Parts: sequence; structure tokens; C-alpha cells
Amino acid sequence: MNIRFDGKRALVTGAGKGIGRDLAKKLVECGAETYALSRTKSDLDSLKQECPLIHVVHCDLADTAALKESVKSCGAIDLLVNNAAIAILEPFLEVTEEIFDKSFAINVKAQIFVAQIIAKGMMERKTGGSIVNVSSQASMVGIENHTVYCATKAAIDQITRNMSLELGPHKIRVNAINPTVVNTDMGKVGWSDPVKADPMRRIIPLGRFAEVEDVVSVILFLLSDHSAMVTGSCLPIDGGCLASLSV
Ligand code: NAP
Repeated sequence: MNIRFDGKRALVTGAGKGIGRDLAKKLVECGAETYALSRTKSDLDSLKQECPLIHVVHCDLADTAALKESVKSCGAIDLLVNNAAIAILEPFLEVTEEIFDKSFAINVKAQIFVAQIIAKGMMERKTGGSIVNVSSQASMVGIENHTVYCATKAAIDQITRNMSLELGPHKIRVNAINPTVVNTDMGKVGWSDPVKADPMRRIIPLGRFAEVEDVVSVILFLLSDHSAMVTGSCLPIDGGCLASLSV
């Protein structure tokens, strides 16, 4: 499938590391004028060095005022990937107010306010657009020590459905992706110990965790016109894990 985004402008949040970083570079390769937003300045500096055509935006999405200013500074955006998130793992009984507030601020609140600004611009310009919210398989099943993370991702699935209803008439498609464990820094936090990882891998019919490129290729598809009739979906990228868990 030949995917090109020539003439399009894209914004990826959480583009300093992991999925967001590789996605932002791929979008540039596919012809999109790409804005890479993230929190750690050194990640953005090295990204700019690797990919000089990229525009980097330094912003902590936990700061809503800074978020609004930074996202508006990107100008007209046709393709948005709401990817930034954090995973703080704690047993249910040890969840604190701080963990709850921080997780919901970055994983949920920021996604809403970034998308609001971008969607309003798309509506004013009457250009339509495509938005992908990065959720997780953790939105659909319980996972030990993941209470707050699971809850933030379940919220993202539901926000995606609501956004698709209200933005569809303006030709703005909104989808979520729901990956299983992906081999990134975040993936390693919860899943580098074989005692935990091996049983999880065993319930994945395809027998492995996802690589970053497995996720990036699906996001590119959802951003592109190849998925022109797809909106409001929450698409697992999980090697069949959710199908296996639901047996
Ligand atoms: P990652 O390697 O930890 O990268 C996350 C990126 O988001 C980093 O660049 C991080 O910047 C940025 N970010 C976090 N908080 C931010 C904030 N407040 N403001 C701006 N940027 C912020 O994570 P990943 O594995 O690529 O995950 C990307 C997405 O996939 C997330 O939504 C995650 O929930 C989802 N996901 C991941 C997995 C997995 O196993 N890895 C599985 C399912 C879903 P800093 O490093 O500077 O904080």
C-alpha cells in the first residue's frame, strides 16, 4: 500500500521517544509537514538532527495553558496523533491521588484539549481530517497493577467514539488504536521481567509483543484515505491477545 501525505500537515504528541518518534519520522518520509511535540528537549534536539525537515515543539502537556499555546503555534493541522501518555504502575490499594491526577492529566485531559484545538481548525477550514488516539489493550481488560492506566485508556476509547459522532459530519475521522505490549521504554517498564512477560506472551496467538513498526503502519493507514470509511473504531494491534483473553 503506497501511503503519501504530500501537502498535508501532521502533529504527533509524545514524539520524543518510542512510537511517536518513529511515527513522526515516517510521516516526514511520506511527505507530510510534521510537527513533533514532546517534553524532553534533548529528545527533540536529537530528532531534529536525525530528521532536519521536522518541526519540533517543546511542551509539557500537563500544563494546559502551555499545551494550548504550543498546539496553536503549529497552525493548520490535517492529521493528528494523540500519542503522549505515561504509565505509572501500582497495586490498586497503593494508588495515590497524585498518580491518579497526573495520569489523567496527561493521558486523557491533554488528548481532549489538543484534539479540540485541532478539530476546531479543521472545521473552520472545512478541510476534514483524521485523528488517531493512541489507546491500549489495557482499555479493554484488567491488568494487574494497571488500574489507573487501564482507566485512562478506557476513557480514551470512549472519547474516541464520542469525537467520531460529533466530528464525523465535518468529515473528521477519529479512531483509536489498542496495542498490546510494544517494545519501547514504556513497554519495558512493565514487561521486561520474564516472570511477568512470558505468561502475557503465551496468551498472544501470534506469540510475540508488538514492535514499534507494527503500530506505526496501522496509524499511517488510519491517517490515510485508505481508511476513508473508518471512524469511531478502537482497533487492537495485539496479535490476537484480546480475542484469546475473551475466550
Ligand atoms: P514512551 O516510549 O514512554 O514515549 C512516550 C513519549 O511521550 C515520550 O517522548 C514522552 O516524553 C512523551 N510524553 C509523556 N508525557 C508527556 C507530557 N506530559 N508532555 C509531552 N510529552 C510527553 O511510550 P510509548 O511506548 O512510545 O507509548 C506511546 C503510546 O502508546 C502511549 O499512549 C502509550 O500509552 C501507548 N501504548 C504503549 C504500549 C507499550 O507497551 N509501550 C502499549 C499500548 C499502548 P518524556 O520521555 O520526555 O516524558
